[in-house]
Amino acid sequence: MAEHEPLTPLSQSQREMLEEAVSTYQTHVTAEAAKYLIDRGIGRDEALAFRLGIVADPAPGHERHRGMLAIPYLGRDGQPLTVRFRCLSEHNHRDYFHGKYNTIKDDTPRMFNVGAVHRAGDEIHVCEGELDAIILNKLGLPAVAIPGANMWFGRHRRMLAGFSRVWVWADPDDAGAELASKITRALRSAKSVRLRADVTDTYLAEGADALSALMK
Ligand SMILES: [Zn+2]
Repeated sequence: MAEHEPLTPLSQSQREMLEEAVSTYQTHVTAEAAKYLIDRGIGRDEALAFRLGIVADPAPGHERHRGMLAIPYLGRDGQPLTVRFRCLSEHNHRDYFHGKYNTIKDDTPRMFNVGAVHRAGDEIHVCEGELDAIILNKLGLPAVAIPGANMWFGRHRRMLAGFSRVWVWADPDDAGAELASKITRALRSAKSVRLRADVTDTYLAEGADALSALMK
């Protein structure tokens, strides 16, 4: 997709389909899924606020994602604009013809939790993982997520251009380095946080203060 290609608005029927799908998935959170989230620092309040769910009864086009964690990309008013799916099974995902994270085919790459752009003050945070962004938001740090360097587009730079500081919390691996490098090259206000583990693992192992200390 070209750098300057505009974001195509969803049609009314797409919006309604997504709203119904996400509402349904929210009602199907299993005890197992709730435990998975709690083990990642995400409690009931965050699951409700971010409208997380389980694809027990797939909407048309979501059949391949049955059983997965549904992570909606909500607009500023909480309406779903797309959904990504996280397989919760401990297996080699490729053997089952899907990835650990899965995107709807031909979907437009979007920024996760775009509402944070509207709620944040002078500073904003960019994570690589959606669930990492949920953790930072829970800690009072307005955070969006860009799940990979190939999901970063010019319009995302423009959305973040007004902030005096853009903290980048990419994972400490090659893919994370590529994302951090893209964002810091695009925005002079961007500063990469040096993580030894991803946001969630750092939070679980060392707590919120450890994350704050990394911004010093
Ligand atoms: Zn899988």
